Amino acid sequence: MDCLFCKIVAGGIPARIAYQDSDVVAFHDIAPQAPVHILIVPREHLSGLSALTTEHSALLGAIHEAANTIARQEGIADSGYRLVVNNGPHAGQTIFHLHYHLLGGAQLGRFGA
Ligand code: AMP
Ligand code: ZN
Repeated sequence: MDCLFCKIVAGGIPARIAYQDSDVVAFHDIAPQAPVHILIVPREHLSGLSALTTEHSALLGAIHEAANTIARQEGIADSGYRLVVNNGPHAGQTIFHLHYHLLGGAQLGRFGA
């Protein structure tokens, strides 16, 4: 499949890996929008939030646990962080493999239109 994040998950394209386990791979965003900007990507290819079903509830738990683990590892667990998913055109999704942006390390701006 011609998917950038599947290739990173498979090790075919290099990335700065921050964390991995049997469910997810997390790596530093190539164009960081905050001092800490890590993408948490399920190993399974799912096009986005809209592709999730009840079958993925365990995976969603694993992603959120990974986010908390990475936040501790990066030293931002107490200062705070944001977990963001862009889904579809109005959200500006550019890569159609589900990924969670973990952002922190500085005071973040508010979000919205
Ligand atoms: P989104 O706009 O939510 O689909 O986010 C895609 C994110 O992937 C953007 O923040 C990009 O900077 C990031 N990105 C694109 N290519 C790479 C790459 N090769 N390695 C790491 N991050 C990437
Ligand atoms: Zn993929």
